[in-house]
Amino acid sequence: MHEWSVAYSIIRTVMSWAGDKEVLKVTIGIPSFSFLDLDILKDAFNEMKKDSGLSNAELEVKIKDPTFKCRNCGYTFTINEVSDQLQGVREEFGEEYPLHLMPALAPSFIRCPKCGSHDVIAQAEDITIDEILVKESGAVKTTS
Ligand SMILES: [Zn+2]
Repeated sequence: MHEWSVAYSIIRTVMSWAGDKEVLKVTIGIPSFSFLDLDILKDAFNEMKKDSGLSNAELEVKIKDPTFKCRNCGYTFTINEVSDQLQGVREEFGEEYPLHLMPALAPSFIRCPKCGSHDVIAQAEDITIDEILVKESGAVKTTS
């Protein structure tokens, strides 16, 4: 039930940021390879928010593309920058080949777009709270 602890920490973080303002919407970014079940996460959020100051808050989830770092030159890039390199993989394995779910496999297939090195690692990414919409000013405020 990892989703419940994630939802709980989202709620706690948003509440400490928003104070006594009414939160209307929370947008979070989740790495596409986090293996979280988003339906369970939303259910957990909607269940737990009832007893918090976030009872009117809607949760929006954005999936973040995996990023990679070249250990040869230090260049950081997203999977989109090397999508042409993945074309051959798709042709061989089909569209369903789970590179988005298992970016750790990707270095076997991709090269650094800058220097061409195969010494590429998948970056670990955290869940981020990207935007919090509060009622008071009606403005979208973004956390740091
Ligand atoms: Zn490189």
